[in-house]
Amino acid sequence: MLTEPELTRYQRQMIITGWGEEGQQKLNRAKVLVAGAGGLGSAILTYLAAAGVGQIRVIDSDRVELSNLNRQTLYTSQDIGLEKVAAAKQKLEAFNPNIRVEAIHEEITEGNVFDLVADYPIVDAMDNLTTRYLLNKVAVRRNLPLFHGAVHGFEGRATTIIPDETPCLRCIYQGVVADKTPVAGVTPGIIGCIQATEVIKYLVGIGELLTGRLLVYDGFGLTFTELKVSKDPSCHECARSEKGE
Ligand SMILES: [Zn+2]
Repeated sequence: MLTEPELTRYQRQMIITGWGEEGQQKLNRAKVLVAGAGGLGSAILTYLAAAGVGQIRVIDSDRVELSNLNRQTLYTSQDIGLEKVAAAKQKLEAFNPNIRVEAIHEEITEGNVFDLVADYPIVDAMDNLTTRYLLNKVAVRRNLPLFHGAVHGFEGRATTIIPDETPCLRCIYQGVVADKTPVAGVTPGIIGCIQATEVIKYLVGIGELLTGRLLVYDGFGLTFTELKVSKDPSCHECARSEKGE
């Protein structure tokens, strides 16, 4: 049952067709993992918290730096030096006291990724392909949805991966991408909001997901392009028959 303050807080979204109190209760009961509390994470976390996603586990090993503040809108100048996840938890729980944020100040590695993810749907808000591949590996092996987003300058991309149904990240990308890419602050805001849109639709069970499609956004020319993506039959992550850990 939703409380009176919850009915009021969420009234404008519950009147969306297919959402209703039932959809809101699904969100309230949901657990989601957000890997990364940077630019993408700021947008994703804000809107998942606003929508009432009941439990959010956020993982990031960084502390807030001045050079983050052109795009990481969860933080203020007073937060410089603080753990990002601690500052994020404090902001988000103040923003929506109905939700709980589990702050994990750790680097995601090959050794801990399976424990950190547990069985939560995964939102990829990372800034490097190496960690993205680790998240992809867990998603494929545990059959968990993976909501991917990435940004570079004024460009961004997003796709939703449902293992077995859609290509995985390894089917789509090869190789590695350089660290410290340029970023206009608005770009992770836009892509993060697209990822949050996907998570919310997935949890409530409404709309069409961005599956089998890579959405490419170009803020310079202001275009959205959609590329069809297919499973790679020789993908070493998702094409093999045995799924062991
Ligand atoms: Zn694959």
